[in-house]
Amino acid sequence: MRSVLNKKVADILFEIADLLELKGVQFKPRAYRRAAQNINNFSEDITIFYENENLEDIEGVGKSIALKIKEIIETGSLKYLKELRQEFPQGLQEMMDIQGLGPKSLMKLYNELNIQNIDELEKAAKNQKIRSIEGFGEKSEENILKNIEMYKKYQERFLLGDILPIAENIEKKLANLKEVKRIDLAGSIRRKKETIGDVDILIISPNPNKVMDFFTELEEAKRVVSKGHTRSTIITVENLQVDLRVVEKESYGSALQYFTGSKEHNIKLRSIALKKNWKLSEYGLIDKDLTETIASENEADIYKALGLDYIEPELREDRGEIEAAQEGKLPTLIKLDDIKGDLHMHTKWSEGSNTIEEMAQAAKEIGYQYIAICDHAETLQVASGLSSKEIREQMNEIDEINKKVEGITILSGIEANIDAEGKLDVKNEVLKDLDIVVASIHSGFKNSEEIMTTRILNAMHNDYVNIIGHPTGRLLNKREPYEVNLSKIFETAADLGIFLELNAFPDRLDLSDVNCRAAKDNDILITINTDSHHKDHLRYMKYGIATARRGWLEKKDVANTLILKELKKLL
Ligand SMILES: [Zn+2]
Ligand SMILES: [Zn+2]
Repeated sequence: MRSVLNKKVADILFEIADLLELKGVQFKPRAYRRAAQNINNFSEDITIFYENENLEDIEGVGKSIALKIKEIIETGSLKYLKELRQEFPQGLQEMMDIQGLGPKSLMKLYNELNIQNIDELEKAAKNQKIRSIEGFGEKSEENILKNIEMYKKYQERFLLGDILPIAENIEKKLANLKEVKRIDLAGSIRRKKETIGDVDILIISPNPNKVMDFFTELEEAKRVVSKGHTRSTIITVENLQVDLRVVEKESYGSALQYFTGSKEHNIKLRSIALKKNWKLSEYGLIDKDLTETIASENEADIYKALGLDYIEPELREDRGEIEAAQEGKLPTLIKLDDIKGDLHMHTKWSEGSNTIEEMAQAAKEIGYQYIAICDHAETLQVASGLSSKEIREQMNEIDEINKKVEGITILSGIEANIDAEGKLDVKNEVLKDLDIVVASIHSGFKNSEEIMTTRILNAMHNDYVNIIGHPTGRLLNKREPYEVNLSKIFETAADLGIFLELNAFPDRLDLSDVNCRAAKDNDILITINTDSHHKDHLRYMKYGIATARRGWLEKKDVANTLILKELKKLL
């Protein structure tokens, strides 16, 4: 569980990195980001390092950053940050989150047009003021407006991967109270949507006032919006709204069903109820004539009474699940412990934080049978990609570690980069000796659909490619997927027996739920991989599983549920 303090320290270090970048400082921003990333991903609480006076043991934390962390822990703030902040108008920092605007461009806009915040930027673009600055043109104005619109849209949603740990932590604290008899997360977080607007929690309690006191005084609560006997709302430090509702035991099931949604799913359920002359609401499934309750205490009973198999929350989107439940044809959804290994992760050899052995040990602790090390190859300079010679050296190291570490097999792989024509940045004579080859696109996202599709199809025709990594390139809340003809990709993947990745990294979840289902319908095997850059990221598998379940995937649809022997046959 990520601690509140880790998050606070990481946020401050991230902010310093942003501000130093605005200042035009070289290298340092990268160091701050690396430290922040590591602290953010930590499972341990950073206070332990502070108390043992070994903050510098944290990957990426040197003497100067350690001193700053110490100051944050001791005083709750950082003087250095306050000073940095004073050098720029506050709106400038927010503008850094707009896609396509680097610090250099921002400073130019600030210095030449005195643009200090997003509103002013929008106005300047609309009034065609920006094209007059050197290096900008009509097209830049268009792009700026488009990206501002996207930024505003993204502001309203949180990533499941950011919110679920916070929500589960609050849930755990409440569950520990003796006044709480039952508790569940409801809403989109229970359906495990990839992005979340707010969090709904339901409880049964004989003494709600005590619970409400506790809830509104949580350390996570930045602000209390409302406090009542049956409902309270807080805003967390992350600006996330959390609603807590107290429900009667007798109607808990119907309330849970109602507040889980989705709206579309519930509308359809209500219409089925109506046909039976029943009424479905948060208070129960009720016979309209007799005003007699048919089902309300247990959620599953409501589905049963309506003539439906129980529908898992992840499926409740009115995408055919109700019809399937009527016909007894719901999928048996994949579960986290069906996964036998993880086929895409990075190590210190490229941009990862841990060694091969550390990754293997961590994977072994999870209970995996195998992992594949897929670092970046040569052309990805920003990620210190590997040359052919280094790939060979890494293969030797993997051989050695396989001899040393028992109970898990490390496969040697690569995440090759797909270039503008669809060629890979690793020679076939090297690829042929690797156990597994992931091919992904990391650049040229703005190409036309035709070009993007051709690039991926060409890569798939390389005999050694096993998996297409993060196939649409989207970054949730940051970057839309590139234009690509997925039906052509599916067709070729099925023909050639190539797996498509469901990248479990919380800001990717790529393929999406809908695309996973389409791939399944085309008889393509999916691999759910974390693309870990740190050993703690291996735990992101659960977000991949969440998306897979929303995409109707079963164990048989996912290649890395196979034991190693079976998987090797397919490779
Ligand atoms: Zn990648
Ligand atoms: Zn990767």
